[in-house]
Amino acid sequence: MEDPRKVARTSLIEIAGREGYERLVESLGEYSRQDSPRLRYWHETLLSKLNEATGILITDFAAAQALLLHCHIHNEPLQWLEGRMVPELPVHSPEYLAAEEQLFPHSHEVEFGRLPSQKGGIVQVLSCPACRAARHMWAEQRPNNSFKPKPLRGSA
Ligand SMILES: [Zn+2]
Repeated sequence: MEDPRKVARTSLIEIAGREGYERLVESLGEYSRQDSPRLRYWHETLLSKLNEATGILITDFAAAQALLLHCHIHNEPLQWLEGRMVPELPVHSPEYLAAEEQLFPHSHEVEFGRLPSQKGGIVQVLSCPACRAARHMWAEQRPNNSFKPKPLRGSA
């Protein structure tokens, strides 16, 4: 049987579009930091459509988290890792975006925010450690690419 996590992802992208799917994952990620997170109405609406399309039944937050806060490339749960808050998100080349989609979809190390100086600009970002490693490897093989990972604390 196919991995239900992959089935759920594919189906939710069909149902909600890629942006809608990303919004769902991001929102679940945000709520997962709360003490006793619960599904919101719009989560439940999307998840009931998922149930109609695939038979996958998710009735509580823990089940949604296990199914969706997960890296589909590396088959690992997403983790809250250190990242930098930046006033402007970087603009990436089409080559980078294609590689990100295929090799490191959950490598996020920066988050958009208006207070870059807060806590030294360090924030927690929901990411996959293997994606981060894959992105660094990819970038090292492309010294001319506009993307270069920066040291997190600016200490170099
Ligand atoms: Zn990953």
